[in-house]
Amino acid sequence: MCTNDKGGFVPPDASKLVARCPACKAFNPAKNTKCKKCGAEMKQQT
Ligand SMILES: [Zn+2]
Repeated sequence: MCTNDKGGFVPPDASKLVARCPACKAFNPAKNTKCKKCGAEMKQQT
């Protein structure tokens, strides 16, 4: 049902575990500092 970093769909409840790229809107692990898709810098929310 739910997919993690390998899946394309992330349920809203996992929004705290992922960060969304401001450039391409791709989901990345929250710990990522750069988007794995386009390489844009991710904003760190700490
Ligand atoms: Zn991106």
